[in-house]
Order: sequence, then C-alpha cells, then structure tokens
Amino acid sequence: MSAIASSSYDPVNGDFEAVEGETASAMLKRRLARRRQVMLLAAASHVINIALLLLFAAAGSTSFAIVGMFTTCAAVKLAVFIAISESGLSDRWKDHFFAAPYTAVTCAMMLGFIYLAPEVGIVFLSAFFLIANVIAFRASPLQGLVACILMTGSVAALYLVADLPLAVPATTLLERVGTLLTFAVTIGRGMFINIFASRMRDNLYRRGVELEGAYKRIEELAELDDLTGALNRRSIMQLLEGDIARTQGGASPCTVALIDLDWFKRINDRFGHLTGDEVLRTFAITIFANIRSIDKFGRFGGEEFLLILPDTPHDQAVRMLERLRSIIETLDWSAFSGGLTVTISAGVATHRPDEAAESMLARADSALYAAKESGRNRIAAA
Ligand code: GH3
Ligand code: MG
Ligand code: MG
Repeated sequence: MSAIASSSYDPVNGDFEAVEGETASAMLKRRLARRRQVMLLAAASHVINIALLLLFAAAGSTSFAIVGMFTTCAAVKLAVFIAISESGLSDRWKDHFFAAPYTAVTCAMMLGFIYLAPEVGIVFLSAFFLIANVIAFRASPLQGLVACILMTGSVAALYLVADLPLAVPATTLLERVGTLLTFAVTIGRGMFINIFASRMRDNLYRRGVELEGAYKRIEELAELDDLTGALNRRSIMQLLEGDIARTQGGASPCTVALIDLDWFKRINDRFGHLTGDEVLRTFAITIFANIRSIDKFGRFGGEEFLLILPDTPHDQAVRMLERLRSIIETLDWSAFSGGLTVTISAGVATHRPDEAAESMLARADSALYAAKESGRNRIAAA
C-alpha cells in the first residue's frame, strides 16, 4: 500500500484526509474508528431518549407502545448506518461521516414521533436542539440558516397543520421529574457536543501549526545546499536577480564574487573525499561568520561559491574579499589532517547599469580565471 505523501485538511470531513506518511489502509482504519466513536455517542443519546420515554410511560403520560416503537426505529436507523460505516461504503462518499443523511433521517424520525406522541413531544423537540448543535459544528452560516429554517419550519408546520397540542407533561410529580430530566439531559448533551467539537478544533489547529512548521522546514531544505548549508544555486541566482532589479531602481550597485577553492582536486586525492567535504563545510561556515547580514552566500556548484555583496562599491568589495582570502589561508587546516592547507581565489565584478546577471557573472568568472592563472590564492577584479 502506498504511503500518502502529503497531508491535507479536509473541511467536509472535519478531518485530516491523511497524516504524513500514513498508508491509505491506515487512514481508512482511523476514519472507521472515528465513525464508531460517533455511532456510539449517537446510540448513547438514543438510550437516554428511551429512558426518558420509559419514565413518561411509567408516569402514564404516554404508552409503552410508543417507547417500543421509538426503540425499534432508533435501533433500525443505527443498524443501517452502522452497516454502511462498517462496510466502508461511506468511504467512497464525499462525507464519510454521512452527517447529512443521518441528520435528515433523525429529523424525520423525531417529526414522526412528535406526530404520534405529541403528549411527550418535549423529548423529541429537545432532540432538535442537539441536531442543531451537531449541524452548527460543520455548517457554513448559509447552511446553518437553511437547516434552522427547515427544522423550525417543519416542527411549526406539524404542530399547526396537524393541530397538535404543545404540551409539557407536568401534572404529576413523576411527570415534572421527567420534564426536568429532559431539560437537564438536553443541556448536558448540548454542552458535551460543543466541548467535543472545540476539542476537535483545538486538535486540528495544533496539527495545522505543526504542518506549517514542517512545510517551512521543507522550503528551507529546498533552498539550502545539503553539504554546506549555503544557499543552493537556484536560490542564490534568484536573490541575485532581485538585487540587480533593485540596482536598476536606483540603489547603489551590488558587487558579486565567484570564489573557488584552489587545488581542490588534489585535496580530495591526497586527504580523501570525506576530508574534502569537511573542508567545504568549514570554508562555508568561515565565510558565513565573516560576512555582513545583508550579504548572501551560495554554492554555485562543486567547490565554487557565489557571494553577493549588496550596496557595495567595487573597492570595498575587493578589500572584503582580500580579508576573507586571508582568513581562509591562515585557518589551522592541519587540525583536519596533517599537512592540509586551503586557499581560495576569487573574481570580483560590480554591476554595470542595465547589465544582465549572466554578463556580470561572466565577468566575475573571467576575473577568477585570471586569479588562477596568476598563481591562485588571490583576488582579481573584473
Ligand atoms: P583549481 O585550483 O584550478 O580550481 O583546481 P581544482 O582542483 O580546485 O579544480 P577542479 O575543477 O579540477 O576540481 C574540482 C574538484 O572538486 C573535483 C571534484 O571532485 C571536487 N568536488 C566537487 N564537489 C565536491 C564535493 O561536494 N565534495 C568533495 N569532496 N569534492 C568535490
Ligand atoms: Mg578549484
Ligand atoms: Mg572549480
């Protein structure tokens, strides 16, 4: 089973479609577990309704036949939806929680029982408060408005058209207890639904923040060269284009330096590739430690690097490069391997009006070539 690479929030299901690295089968399992949790809560809620109806039947407000019918309807409804959930059928639907059909069927069932047993209509009416809470958890304001109109409209139509009494059983003590209990468990369930929903939102928010961090890290990795931590070629070139555009806008000219390690092939041959890597890393760290925060440093390829010095006149740039050259030369490289010395050569070019990046880099490269030709371990100006 293939791993799902990216993680995306699915607003319809109120759930993360996939957790990073999670396989498709693991995701289906996790969804099923969530649906079982929701089904269990729905069943518990119906058990509470049945208990209330039993109390009212005992108080003589309604018949035990109504309790039996309600229990049968609730059981059949839950059985059908549990079967849909367990078979995985709803995994193919847009909303694998089947919230819309489930709430529609529940509303229809409650309306039916208001019609059949208006004397205990309070039990079924309060179910609408809970359904409204569940809908509010996911619905958009417009969907919420439509659901609200549909629910109140159908309840009102039923009471008015069928001319049902809007009674609250309160004649005997047991009836009053039943009514108050209905009130209490409705408040309790309403609060539970909202707490459950806010917990879920907190979780989603936390996951969102974690994901943002992970994406940022991926972006960083895509910008940096693995070995040296310097910017990669693509990023440094993008930055150069940006700096040149700013220069065209009238800012002071920027200067670039192409820096190349001298005799690096020999270093690899004599001290090994791993030492070569270590030299590249240490060279990059040393440059980073000795440039300004506005300067940009990237690996151009192999043992060649590009340093961008924004807002820097040519002479000042040459002096800065001379200083860097001296720092690299005098570093105690023998700590890595006895007899190891490292020097660099660089070609410096300052941007000319209307000059393209490629042309400026070509001039820096010619200067670098000249520095190599005239003996290495030196800085040459274009
Ligand atoms: P020059 O002074 O003229 O620049 O000579 P050079 O030996 O430095 O230049 P050359 O282009 O002949 O060799 C560059 C070497 O750099 C060859 C290549 O194997 C090595 N190199 C490039 N990338 C890496 C790397 O990531 N790690 C290591 N260890 N070596 C690298
Ligand atoms: Mg070299
Ligand atoms: Mg080279």
